Amino acid sequence: MNCDAGSAGYSGPMNAARISRPGGLIRTARVAFRNPSFAPGHGRGWLLLAALLLSPVMAVAAPGCDDLLTRADELSSLRDVDPARGVEEGRRLLEQARRQSPRCTLGESMLMAAIGRNLHILGRVDEAIPLLQDAMERLPEEATTSQRAGLHRTLGVSLADAGEYVAALEHYLDALADTEASGDILDAAKSAGNIGNLYNTLNEFDLAREYHQKALAGFSEAGFREGVAGTYVNLGAVALKLAARASQAGDPEGERRALHEALENQRQALRLFVDLGNERGEGHAETNIAHVLSSLGRREEALPHFERALALHHRIGDHRGELNARVTLADMLTAMGRYAEAREQLELADGVAEDVPPGVALQLAGAWVTLHEALGEYAEALRWHREVQRLSTVLADEQYNARVLEFQARFDTRQQAKEIELLRSQAAVQELELWRQRMILGLAIAAVLAVAILVGVLYSRLRLGQRVARELERAACTDPLTGLANRRHMVDRIERAARAVEAGGDSFAVIMIDIDRFKAINDRHGHGVGDQVLQEVGRRLGSRLRHADLLARWGGEEFLVLLPGTDLEGGQVVAENLRNAVSATPMQTPSGRLQLSISLGVCAHAAGMGVDECISRADQAMYAAKRSGGNGVGDTDPDADLVAAPST
Ligand code: GH3
Ligand code: MG
Ligand code: MG
Repeated sequence: MNCDAGSAGYSGPMNAARISRPGGLIRTARVAFRNPSFAPGHGRGWLLLAALLLSPVMAVAAPGCDDLLTRADELSSLRDVDPARGVEEGRRLLEQARRQSPRCTLGESMLMAAIGRNLHILGRVDEAIPLLQDAMERLPEEATTSQRAGLHRTLGVSLADAGEYVAALEHYLDALADTEASGDILDAAKSAGNIGNLYNTLNEFDLAREYHQKALAGFSEAGFREGVAGTYVNLGAVALKLAARASQAGDPEGERRALHEALENQRQALRLFVDLGNERGEGHAETNIAHVLSSLGRREEALPHFERALALHHRIGDHRGELNARVTLADMLTAMGRYAEAREQLELADGVAEDVPPGVALQLAGAWVTLHEALGEYAEALRWHREVQRLSTVLADEQYNARVLEFQARFDTRQQAKEIELLRSQAAVQELELWRQRMILGLAIAAVLAVAILVGVLYSRLRLGQRVARELERAACTDPLTGLANRRHMVDRIERAARAVEAGGDSFAVIMIDIDRFKAINDRHGHGVGDQVLQEVGRRLGSRLRHADLLARWGGEEFLVLLPGTDLEGGQVVAENLRNAVSATPMQTPSGRLQLSISLGVCAHAAGMGVDECISRADQAMYAAKRSGGNGVGDTDPDADLVAAPST
């Protein structure tokens, strides 16, 4: 029985497998309930979840839509407790909704889906299918992926019950593809569960297991316990069919193992359903447990489980579940030799559902064959046997299965293509991101370089400017031949010193120096030698001065010295020292050694004395020395005659 994992519960027919026995008679053994698929039954959690899923739609739906969607959801839940009321109330609400203005198309579609779900549980699949197809066609754009997928699944379940397996699979795969694409784990799990059930029906056990495992993982991840419980029922159903196959293959050990696996799965499902208060699920798990116990030969133990299952199915009006339970029970009763009771169960089963899916019909027919055989009613047995053969052809149509598998392959290819495309686009995005980062890095480096270059250029220009300025300044203050300060610079410094004295600072002295008979050197040895002599005299004079003193070339072969903080006496000591520096040692020139001398005059600056006057006094003192024959230091005393100190 197919279970619309989409909203709640299982449904669907039981599955039967034919077992050939030596002697040509065919027995059918119930192997599994086809779609015990569960679903998200309807607990409070489900309502809450549905409300959450619907919330984005409600925001865009027409006025009054919110209410309609909530009602549709409640009606879907009714299938677990009272499907007949679900159909009745659904139809009434749908009438109302159609008269409403403005119309709420989404609400109407969801109502139709809810009615379809309930009809399915009542076994009225022929009514459910056109209604659900209509709902699908009317479903507006604004429906969420979850709503669309839910409808696909509901329709798929009914189609599968009607034996329309390819159409059913198409809807399931559509639902799975949509929900996987939208990242909806829960809805994808529901779709996977439906596909698993379909494959179980078609005896594609590996695929069935694969999809159920996928569903189990999804439900667990989403924390949806109803789904987990339903999946255990479904996995148990697969195990039951595998047990039947093992029995057919003469592998009793394999059969026993599979039956125990089935029992464990169903017990786990039962615990969860009891816990969740889901009676429909409970009923299905009970039937399945009874079926497994019966297959294990523990028939007495199975009976109370059948009773509980029948009571539950009957109470909530789950005709599909009841049918399933009765046929399975009848088989067991036949095996126990309780033929009258078996017949009674089969007659009740005949009257339960209106539309019997091929799987259930096959199981029912098989049970009749077994019973008639056991009673020795061979004519009747043959009649039911023909029915079994007819139904088996429907289910076991190899072409049919091939089409279904081809469908799966197409789906897989589509999924793979999607995944490849996704990977490609992710790779492209990564590449783009890498390129963007590289660009940013490149630009940043270029910007930093540009700024660095600019700063470098500006800095070097600044340095150059400073150097040029310094050079110019130096050139303006320097005598090019000797490298000493020039006359202008010396005048500046003396004026500054004079101002400092006016301001109360220390006094100073100046010494005027003139090389004796210099013209004769030029004349005798040439100007070049004269220049060298000037340079050497400058060096010798400088070597005898303090750091604070200033030596300048005053002009021609004359030099002037500024001695800060020095009085006349001190000045004369320095002058004598300088005189000695020049005359003590002959100078080495290309023309040979030359003996030189200088004449010097000292003036100690006094407050109120002008700069020119001070220099002039030093000059006069120097001339006084010159007049005395040179090579001496003259004096400036205005009152005294300028007397040159004779050289020694
Ligand atoms: P006195 O002992 O009286 O000072 O005689 P003097 O020859 O030293 O003085 P005078 O003023 O007669 O001559 C100075 C000479 O210095 C004249 C000039 O050609 C020379 N002279 C001036 N400047 C320079 C210079 O830069 N280089 C050279 N080689 N000679 C110079
Ligand atoms: Mg001179
Ligand atoms: Mg001279």
